[in-house]
Amino acid sequence: MKDICPICEAKREIVNIVFPEVFKIRGEDIEVESSCLKCLTCNSIFDDPLADDDSVSKAYREYRRRHGMVQPDELKRFRIKYNLTQSELSEILGWGVATLHRYENGSLQTAEHDKELKSAMEPHNLLQLIYENPDALSEDKKKRVIEELQKEEQETFSKEELKHVGAL
Ligand SMILES: [Zn+2]
Repeated sequence: MKDICPICEAKREIVNIVFPEVFKIRGEDIEVESSCLKCLTCNSIFDDPLADDDSVSKAYREYRRRHGMVQPDELKRFRIKYNLTQSELSEILGWGVATLHRYENGSLQTAEHDKELKSAMEPHNLLQLIYENPDALSEDKKKRVIEELQKEEQETFSKEELKHVGAL
């Protein structure tokens, strides 16, 4: 493809190069496919500004997949589902808001935080956390989220009951 080479500062023939890259993450080798761009005129190699994920984020994603950890988009979906802001959810979890922000943006969570997060993603446990941190949400929001969670919890229970009698 013809594109601007940042080194030549002119339109050049640019090719995409894909290569394996290994990252050591918490003592584990994680290989991902990295890509970069190369200008065929000056032979310079540079990052693809349009690449959706950088290589480190890709490696973290793979590490989380291997260890069954929560991915950033799952965390974000969970928060949005209850219409919570980052600061509200971090209050509920007892984390700093910067921590939650980093996790949603691709930082690798600690194993401890991952455990807490998975637990909080269960309606019953999230309810418990909201009761334990009564100031995390405004009264209106708390009422609405609690109602939603109770409804969800009931639905889970009735499904389990149906399974019990063999209806599902
Ligand atoms: Zn060039």
